Amino acid sequence: MDQTMFETMLRTNAEPLQYAAFVGALIILNVLEVIVAARRDAERRRRWPANIGLTVIAILAIGAMPVSAVAAADAAARHGLGLLNHPAVPWAVQLGLGLLLRSLIGYAVHAAMHKAPFLWRIHRVHHTDTRIDVTTTVRVHPLEFAIGMAVVTALTPGLGLSAAALMLYELFDAAMAVFTHANVRLPPSLERAIRLVLVTPAMHRLHHSAWPPETYSNYGATFSWWDRLFGTFRDRSAGELASVRLGLDDADRARADSLVWLLWQPFAPRPAAARRPVPCAR
Ligand SMILES: [Zn+2]
Repeated sequence: MDQTMFETMLRTNAEPLQYAAFVGALIILNVLEVIVAARRDAERRRRWPANIGLTVIAILAIGAMPVSAVAAADAAARHGLGLLNHPAVPWAVQLGLGLLLRSLIGYAVHAAMHKAPFLWRIHRVHHTDTRIDVTTTVRVHPLEFAIGMAVVTALTPGLGLSAAALMLYELFDAAMAVFTHANVRLPPSLERAIRLVLVTPAMHRLHHSAWPPETYSNYGATFSWWDRLFGTFRDRSAGELASVRLGLDDADRARADSLVWLLWQPFAPRPAAARRPVPCAR
């Protein structure tokens, strides 16, 4: 498949491919969660309605958003704008570096979500889940998607990210997001091999720990390299991970399953909603 065919295939099937990546990963990993890992969660009846509600709202909100990073990439390419749109950069290099830079943007936006108090008000909705499984993946406030999409769209022309890199990354990210939230424990050797390149469910589970230094770690969503590079990587043994307390201790755990309460969180009066994890000595 040459460059043009590949781009046309991505462009004409971008949405169905993304849903297929997300739903496919959701089904496969939920089967693994329930059958293979035998981790059927007794609390899922309590947690799932709000998580699925936020997922549906997020999908509708994403469809309605007027900004498009792909349109920004096309405009930049037409005008030869941006770092990677230089004629000397081969297509495959533009694609590879584009994927890396897009992944780095995701890491940076996530870290900012934890550090800027007004962003934390929005992102904490994702962290109020008291357990994690595949339904936690899109337990995300719709404002978080809007902010993430705006940042990527704003940075795309300057970096010269290609439309193909952006579309391919979305597919990769959709499947990875489900994978990293799955309530499965990989065999230790497989876990070690995968995390050389990718974020694993164990790495991301620690990010959902209620203990602030751990909430402040493992921000990566796809490649595991950014956390190692920027010193935010943390680890625990598999045995310890199983008993890690998840969620947020400053959140009202009794109300964390109310869809209305979750949607209201970014606007809720201080101090509880605005409180952010306190960084501790590592
Ligand atoms: Zn987070």
